[in-house]
Amino acid sequence: MAQFQYFQHIVILTGAGLSAESGVSTFRDKDGIWSKYDYRDVATPQGFARNPQLVHDFYNERRRAHAGVKPNAAHVALARIEREHAGDVVVVTQNIDALHEAAGSINLIHMHGELLSALCAACGARHAWEEDLGVETACIACGKTGGMRPDVVWFGEMPYHMERIAEALAAADLFLSIGTSGNVYPAAGFVAEARTHGAHTVELNLEPSDGASFFAEAIHGPATQIVPAFVERLLSAR
Ligand SMILES: [Zn+2]
Repeated sequence: MAQFQYFQHIVILTGAGLSAESGVSTFRDKDGIWSKYDYRDVATPQGFARNPQLVHDFYNERRRAHAGVKPNAAHVALARIEREHAGDVVVVTQNIDALHEAAGSINLIHMHGELLSALCAACGARHAWEEDLGVETACIACGKTGGMRPDVVWFGEMPYHMERIAEALAAADLFLSIGTSGNVYPAAGFVAEARTHGAHTVELNLEPSDGASFFAEAIHGPATQIVPAFVERLLSAR
């Protein structure tokens, strides 16, 4: 493999393909969660207004399943870049699981929210949350019931931290997209934004994504194999 130059500002976008090998169900694959549930019922503000308990049950099931999953070699490799690379490294994840932080990533942006966080619609407080949520759950901050919701970004809602992400993309000299389908905006547009600002762009995915042609370089295969190998190559360019 070609020797890398040294990169000062690395932005890493991750998606469902990264966590799939940890056993986290994906949403958009052929047998994914959206083949079994209608997203309009369980992942929109309108669905929550119509039947909040159904939405709570859906996320309670995901939260319980999450207790049994562990970060894989790809998560661990990405935490290693942050620890061992002298430049800035930020991970922007579309995943709502907590596997990046479990692997040791610190400079981490959850653009689609977090499964293990609850948000109070009454007062805006966020609480770390590992238990079930329900319509009777009271907010620890304001005491109100009925307003607690999963702290995840639903269809039709604005992703979190878009300003911070735009700043990171503008400064990036290396942009990696890992395990993401390339057809969900705004994340699918990040590669074009990073390229505009002069970043080298690399896709690491099981197979060529819908956006593969936007990348300067592409590596295809299981994340647990290609991500650690790529990180090794990156860190050897010091
Ligand atoms: Zn509250």
